[in-house]
Amino acid sequence: MIVGAGLAGAKAAETLRAEGFDGRIVLIGRENERPYERPPLSKEVLLGKKDDDSVYVHEAGWYAEHDVELREGVEAQALDLAERRVGLSDGSSVEYTRLLLAMGATPRRLRVPGANLEGVSTLRTRADSLALRARISGGGLRVAIVGGGWIGLEVAAAARTYGNEVTVLEAEATPLHVPLGPEVGALFADLHRAHGVEIRCGEGLFALRGEGSVDHVTTSLGHEIPADLVLMGVGAVPEDSLARAAGLKCENGVLVDSSLRTDDPDVYAAGDVASAYHPLYRRHLRVEHWANALNAGPAAARSMLGQDVTYDRVPYFFSDQYDLGMEFSGYATPGAYDKVVFRGDPASGEYIAFWLSQGAVVAAMNANIWDVTDPLQSLIRSGKKVEESRLTDPAVPLADL
Ligand SMILES: Cc1cc2nc3c(=O)[nH]c(=O)nc-3n(C[C@H](O)[C@H](O)[C@H](O)COP(=O)(O)OP(=O)(O)OC[C@H]3O[C@@H](n4cnc5c(N)ncnc54)[C@H](O)[C@@H]3O)c2cc1C
Repeated sequence: MIVGAGLAGAKAAETLRAEGFDGRIVLIGRENERPYERPPLSKEVLLGKKDDDSVYVHEAGWYAEHDVELREGVEAQALDLAERRVGLSDGSSVEYTRLLLAMGATPRRLRVPGANLEGVSTLRTRADSLALRARISGGGLRVAIVGGGWIGLEVAAAARTYGNEVTVLEAEATPLHVPLGPEVGALFADLHRAHGVEIRCGEGLFALRGEGSVDHVTTSLGHEIPADLVLMGVGAVPEDSLARAAGLKCENGVLVDSSLRTDDPDVYAAGDVASAYHPLYRRHLRVEHWANALNAGPAAARSMLGQDVTYDRVPYFFSDQYDLGMEFSGYATPGAYDKVVFRGDPASGEYIAFWLSQGAVVAAMNANIWDVTDPLQSLIRSGKKVEESRLTDPAVPLADL
C-alpha cells in the first residue's frame, strides 16, 4: 500500500511492478487527479510554455494496465500499525503487508492578520498553478511575493516575464539564504533586480490588508506595499500527521534509516515527507527535491521487496529563472561550509560555484553550464581536499579534480 499519489508514490508503484511484484498495489491520493510532477508548475506551465497535461507521471491508462489500484480524491486518515490497516476518508480501510508513506509536504502559511484575504495564495498543486497563471498572465498587476526561496523566485521571474510589477520580501539578508548561503544568494538578488524585481531583504511580512481581497502588504519594517496579489513562498511542512498520530518517530518528517524504513519494520517513507539518514552527511536530511522523489520512491519500493538498499544519493536540485538555468548538488546551508569559490565570472551568467568545508567540496552549482553533474557529484562524494586554484581554473577538467 502506498499513501500519497505524488511522484515518489507513483515511481514506487512503477518499480514494484518492474521488479516483478505481482501482489496487490493500492495507491491512495488525496488530489482529484493522477500523480504529476510539480517543477513545471512554477516554470513552463506557469509561463504557458508547456501543455498543462504534460506534467503527469504516467498515461491515464497506465495504472489499470499495471494493476495498480489508484484511488484519487481519497485521504488516508488513520494508521493502525498493530492491525496493519489504513482508514480512508471514504469510510473504507485497507490492510497492508508493507506500507509506503509518500505524502509529500504542504506549503507553510504565515499566520498574520489578513492571511485569508482573497488574492493571497500558495503554489503547490496543478490547480494552484493554473489559477495563478490566469491572474498574472495579463500583466499590469502589483505582485508581492513573501519569501525569496526557490518557488518565490521562480514565480517572481514568471510574473515579471508577463509584465507585472514584482516585489519580493525576504526576511534573511539575501534570497535563498538557507539552501545556498549569502554569497550565491546575493547573485540571485542581482539577477532579479536586473530584471526589474524589487528585492527587499531583511524585511518580513507583518500583515496583509484589504477589504475582502488583499490590496496592501505591511512589512516588518512598517512599509506599506500596494499589492493586487500575494504569493506566500515561505517553505513547506512535511505531511507527517498520519505517521505522528500512529506513533511513528517523526522529526521534521517521518524518520527513516538509509534503507528508507521507519521504526516499524513494515512501514517505509520516501520523498518530501521523509527525513532519511544520509550516510554521506552522517545525519538525517529531509530533501524536498524532484530528484529525491524520483529516486527515493523506487529505492523504497526495492527495500519493501526485501532487497538490500542504501539510499545515499547526493541531493540534487534544478531551477530556471529568466535565462538562467542552474543545477545544484550537495548540501550548503550556512554553517555547513566555510567558503565559496567560483570557476568563471558570476557576472557573465556562466559559472560554477563550489562550497568548501575544510578544503573539501560539499556542494556545487553550475549556472548555464551543462552536463557536469556527474563529475561535480563525484567530487562531493569523494570528500577529498582540492586546491582552490584548481577549482577556479577552467583549464583543469572537472573530472581531474
Ligand atoms: C511549484 C513547485 C516547483 C518545484 N520545482 C522544483 C524544481 O525546480 N526542482 C526540484 O528539484 N524540485 C522542485 N520542486 C519540489 C518537488 O516537486 C517535490 O520535491 C516533489 O513533488 C516531492 O514529491 P513527493 O511525491 O514526495 O510529494 P508530493 O508531490 O507532495 O506528493 C504527495 C501527494 O500525497 C498527497 N497526500 C498527502 N497526504 C495524504 C493523505 N493523508 N492521503 C492521501 N494522499 C495524501 C498529497 O496531496 C500529494 O498529492 C517543486 C515543488 C513545487 C511545489
